[in-house]
Amino acid sequence: MAGLDKHICRKIHVRECKDYDASHLIGAPFPVTLTGGVLEKHCEECNAKAGHILKNPRQLTRMVAVARACDDMKLNGSEVRFLRKSINLKAKELAEKLDIDPAHLSRIENGHLAISVVLEKLVRSAVCLSFLDEARIVGMDGSSILSMNIPSVVCSSRIFSLDLRLVEQNNVLHVVGGERSATVSSKSWKDDCEPKIAI
Ligand SMILES: [Zn+2]
Repeated sequence: MAGLDKHICRKIHVRECKDYDASHLIGAPFPVTLTGGVLEKHCEECNAKAGHILKNPRQLTRMVAVARACDDMKLNGSEVRFLRKSINLKAKELAEKLDIDPAHLSRIENGHLAISVVLEKLVRSAVCLSFLDEARIVGMDGSSILSMNIPSVVCSSRIFSLDLRLVEQNNVLHVVGGERSATVSSKSWKDDCEPKIAI
């Protein structure tokens, strides 16, 4: 085995991380780029990365959920699932609260059926009402949800994304800047806006 690098990373240090997509760490189905609020572990000797640490993942998840809930771009199935999980509801529980069949919610979350505008306003409102503190931090309050002009079908080539600049004080994250955007892919999105109906 001679010649193989026997280096074992021992001197692991943490440093602030910039422009890190933390979506997979909080289960968000769209890019969530963070500056601040996330640390990167790395080896001081070989500089190998050894993972990332979110400073307050629960709070970040709530802030991201509120930011998505307050943006009028239509929710796709994965986003409905993300918002449901952010408020700690099982699919069966949310279906019950929305007074719909669990199979109907399952078709929505799996992208086979577009969520109705009325149902998505309820889900969005539930998120904002659950996370009033986080809504204040991201500068939103959900008051515009009822009057949102949301399309009835999902455009699969448009992707919501979030760019947050954060500082942490006493384990509480604060937003110091950032932006939301709905990215349109180069592909013509007219074709993608047909209703997805499973039945
Ligand atoms: Zn190393």
